[in-house]
Formats: sequence, C-alpha cells, structure tokens
Amino acid sequence: MRFGAAVLRGYEDPFAVEEVILNAGPADGEILVRIAGCGLCRTDLAVRHSAGRSPLPAVLGHEGAGVVVETGSPDTGLGPGDHVVLSFDFCGRCRSCLGGAPAYCDRFAALNLFGGRSENAARFTDGAGEALAPRWFGQSSFAEYAIVPARNAVRVDATLPLELLGPLGCGFLTGAGAVLNSFGAGPGDTVAVFGAGAVGLAAVMAATAAGALVVAVDRHPER
Ligand SMILES: [Zn+2]
Ligand SMILES: [Zn+2]
Repeated sequence: MRFGAAVLRGYEDPFAVEEVILNAGPADGEILVRIAGCGLCRTDLAVRHSAGRSPLPAVLGHEGAGVVVETGSPDTGLGPGDHVVLSFDFCGRCRSCLGGAPAYCDRFAALNLFGGRSENAARFTDGAGEALAPRWFGQSSFAEYAIVPARNAVRVDATLPLELLGPLGCGFLTGAGAVLNSFGAGPGDTVAVFGAGAVGLAAVMAATAAGALVVAVDRHPER
C-alpha cells in the first residue's frame, strides 16, 4: 500500500512529506493502524543532530495513536476499529521484559533508536523503492499508517479524542512512570519537578493523583 509519511533523509534536513510504500501487511502478532495523531517528542528532533547513530532515511514519530485496520493473526487481542495508543518496542524475552519492566529491555536502544528489527528491512520503502530504516520505536508514526507489534499497542476508550492521546505512549508514561514506578511516590511525600514541559507536567499530574505534595519549577512563567 502507498500512503504519505514525513521522511527524514539527512541529519540536518527538514522532515519532508513523501509517498512511501508498505510492501506487506501485518505479520503474526502485528497490527496495521491508521494514524489519527502523533506527538512530536524531543527524541524525534534529537535524531536530526545525532551524527549518524540512527539510520536514515527514516520515518520517525513514536507517539502515535490511531485505529486498528487489520490484524496479522487472531491472537493479538485487538480487532479492526479498536482505538489504540502506540508505545515503544521491546524484545519480550530478556530478564527485564519477563520481569514486567520492558522499558529496561536489553535491546531497547537497538530496537527503538538504532535500527529496529532487521526482519522489517525491505518491507518499508520510499516511493522509488529505496529502503527506509526499519520502523522507529516500533512504529514510525509520522505517517498515515503504521504496522506495529500488537503488544506495543494499548486499547483506549473510543469516546476519547484519539488524535490527542499519542503522547501517553512516550512523554506521559516517562513522567508518570518516574513518579509512580521509580519513586513510588504517595501520600506524605513531597515531589519537586524541575522543568514543567510535557514530561514534567505528566509527573505533576501523577504525583498529584498519588496524593503527594508537588512543587513544579520552570523558567517559563506560563507553565
Ligand atoms: Zn519520546
Ligand atoms: Zn527485552
């Protein structure tokens, strides 16, 4: 299938919308998602100055949310029409993954930042048939469609504004996860958050929800 995507071709280039080609539908355990909206994370912007550590040309974008179009096998737990938020890729087999902590996956950097799954190479090309880097953070969602492992997708309430939910899959789980999982903050704790951007505000919300006293510090008064 052919669709539009924002392709980054060089480390100092702008993102340019082009036609890209997906040569095969979802494989076992994967889903095809029509993207409704995608956040722009600092990590996407950092690649543009990464001096070659992330392979290009590539379709970035890793805070995608959308609607499931097709599933590659019946065991994905998802079906066409489901609204999903996408998150990072993980191996599912290392000690961290098996211990329920996929953010600490042994292969996190390789799978998400520095090349993705080699078996995905050649499935995704530009309009002229030239290879694009295998999917970024398991999704490459600066695009109209993305194929992702089903375990990277979380079904959400279909009454919520789907186009706004993508950042839950990166910036918001980072801020909230630090407070809830790493710190275990709760009533009686005081949490200071330095920097009240998307990640910091997620930490503020999570700490508030957990019953902690919160102080947010930022140089920008409007935050
Ligand atoms: Zn991110
Ligand atoms: Zn792992």
